[in-house]
Amino acid sequence: MTIPSEPRRLRLRVRGVVQGVGFRPFVYALAGRHGLTGLVGNDSDGVFVEVQGEGGALAAFRRDLVAGPPPLARIDGVDAVALPPRDEAGFVIAQSEARPGESTPVPPDVAVCDDCLRELFDPADRRFRYPFINCTGCGPRFTIILDLPYDRPATTMAGFRMCADCEREYHDPASRRFHAQPNACPRCGPALRFLAGGNEALGEDALGRARDALAAGRVVAVKGVGGFHLACDATSDDAVAVLRQRKRRTDKPFAVLFASLEVARRHAMIDEGEARVLTGRERPIVLVRRRPDAGLSGLVAPGNDFVGALLPYSPLHHLLVDDRPLVFTSANLSDEPIVKDNEEALSRLSRLADAFLMHDRDIHVVCDDSVVRCLGGREYPVRRSRGYAPLPVPLPRPAPPVLAVGGELKATFCLTRGDRAYVSQHIGDMGSPETLAAFERAFGHFEALFRTSPAAVACDAHPGYLSTRWAAEFALSRGLPRIEVQHHHAHVAALMAEHGLDGLHPVIGVCFDGTGYGPDGAIWGGELLVADYRGFERLAHLPYVPLPGGDTAVRRPYRAGLAHLFAAGLPWDDDLPCVQACPPAERRVLARQLEGGFNCVPTSSAGRLFDAVAALINVRQEVTYEAQAAIELEALADAADEGIYSIALSGDPAIIDLGEMFRAILMDLRGGVPRGVIASRFHRGFARLVVSMAEFARRRTGLRVVGLTGGVFQNVRLLRLSAEGLSAAGFEVLVHERVPANDGGLALGQAAVVGLGRVQG
Ligand code: ZN
Ligand code: ZN
Ligand code: FE
Repeated sequence: MTIPSEPRRLRLRVRGVVQGVGFRPFVYALAGRHGLTGLVGNDSDGVFVEVQGEGGALAAFRRDLVAGPPPLARIDGVDAVALPPRDEAGFVIAQSEARPGESTPVPPDVAVCDDCLRELFDPADRRFRYPFINCTGCGPRFTIILDLPYDRPATTMAGFRMCADCEREYHDPASRRFHAQPNACPRCGPALRFLAGGNEALGEDALGRARDALAAGRVVAVKGVGGFHLACDATSDDAVAVLRQRKRRTDKPFAVLFASLEVARRHAMIDEGEARVLTGRERPIVLVRRRPDAGLSGLVAPGNDFVGALLPYSPLHHLLVDDRPLVFTSANLSDEPIVKDNEEALSRLSRLADAFLMHDRDIHVVCDDSVVRCLGGREYPVRRSRGYAPLPVPLPRPAPPVLAVGGELKATFCLTRGDRAYVSQHIGDMGSPETLAAFERAFGHFEALFRTSPAAVACDAHPGYLSTRWAAEFALSRGLPRIEVQHHHAHVAALMAEHGLDGLHPVIGVCFDGTGYGPDGAIWGGELLVADYRGFERLAHLPYVPLPGGDTAVRRPYRAGLAHLFAAGLPWDDDLPCVQACPPAERRVLARQLEGGFNCVPTSSAGRLFDAVAALINVRQEVTYEAQAAIELEALADAADEGIYSIALSGDPAIIDLGEMFRAILMDLRGGVPRGVIASRFHRGFARLVVSMAEFARRRTGLRVVGLTGGVFQNVRLLRLSAEGLSAAGFEVLVHERVPANDGGLALGQAAVVGLGRVQG
């Protein structure tokens, strides 16, 4: 016989993602199961629990708390202190306590759950076909939260008063909607509105009108979770052409919303790993291989054998899309921030959309769709945003608070607090006042939400970046030190940080990139570094090529082609496609510039080398979006060919010699070798170069961990071939899994360099 021990009382503090995820009802039910009294509540530091009962029950409670939290929760730690027992009758949910200076991670917006979906399509349910159905396990979070602690009055749902039925669920610990802050129903919650011309429709009518408009080939602006989308029939050339023309977007691929995995599989090859990510609660856009025979309009992703597939994540999407897939692209002009407010949509999108499907649940912060690729079942981020942000990336150790402002394109920022790095959602391409304003808004929100104020500011070293100039002003206004981090050092540091490396041992970083400012004033981008958080050494790089007229060269790959021919000492023969693509007058100017070396920036950019090869074999002479030539070159590569171009690496410091490769390409080109074969040989040659570079660094340093980073590594053919070659040569290979290899990952790396390597805590 066991004698019940004296009642004891514990105060537990649970840290992690524990608010807005049904954690309090979970604790409530758990306490009931173990016969404990006490209370549970939210404060701005997480969840606090007081439990009272006999020792065995308390221990079992603690075990179950950690073992089986709700699906969206992530427990980072539990601290316990003993308290004197109290006289109390039951277990209650306490009022929220706001404690200044404390903060807890905010959950991201996640896709509608299966339970809610069943109700959505159940005619007997009171939320049958209600587009805003949600519960503690699903729905909007980050985009509707104004402040912490996370309670209804601190969300954009504050203005909706729950009806009696919703109120009952909200207070019933047995309900899936117990303390579900966005809880709503058709009687008391947000409603749909359709607008076209002067016509208006509401509710189910609005939905029907929107579906009719889409079926008729119209472009409809649809308000979603993190902003508006522009939608149209993805199987109609006419509809997609209209959208392209209005958006002034010639070739850049559009994402496509499919009703289900089954429908998506009719249009794309989707393996098990991709299916898991597509249907996961983060619900990103997944780049999957398009079926050539599929019914999608060729205008969805011209010159690209991948398509950005998306499955419905808001209940509204489930009601909107049927067997006919929809183009579903962020509603913005070129690379400006996505539109989120109704009034803003009606004015800024009036020339883009024929009709509007809106609702009255406000979006507090914009959050674009995330984009990932899937490699060997693992996620490879292209854009980290909705579904992921603002979850922190854990740092290997606590750092002083740092604001890192990122780069210029695909901007994100990063704000650290202790050992958490809060990487922002995707902001867009800096350069327009709108993007800068969105950046400042998002930063203000993060600073308030996570109760942290930077002690130092990290930025890129490029004097022309808007983010660098903003950082200078911001640092001055707050009296903070500003620290510049070299672009490719930041890329490597981001990779180290997301893999939790403590930085005590440096790594070999192979960084292939478009553009990054080098300390020598050249534009870097084909770099072999050995780096830790404190600094880096450059062991080798692609040869400097003089590039006339920087930005123009980026838009016209034939210029990169001519520059590389010049640098390799090869003549501009008239039979070469990149020579033909360049008007004679421009050619004469270029020749003078190159020979005189004026108005030329020396660059070791790997991105421009891909451009040069693409132009040389006439894949693309001018681009309308970033990396288009490289993407089309990758798509063209013929996997069956086993040939390879040799790229020599010799000397110490190592010199990379591209001359032999260019001569071989010209010979193949003139010998009538198909372009797909040339593209394949180039990819193989480049991947072997990656291995040679790593081997060179290993000989010099004895290190054997290699990180592959930089925007060029979004080329999965190059990434896969490189990683395979490195593994075969005995290296441990790091690739990105949490932040992008492109400049969207820079901010994390800058924060790691400054927080972990430069500033003393
Ligand atoms: Zn749900
Ligand atoms: Zn209601
Ligand atoms: Fe970069």
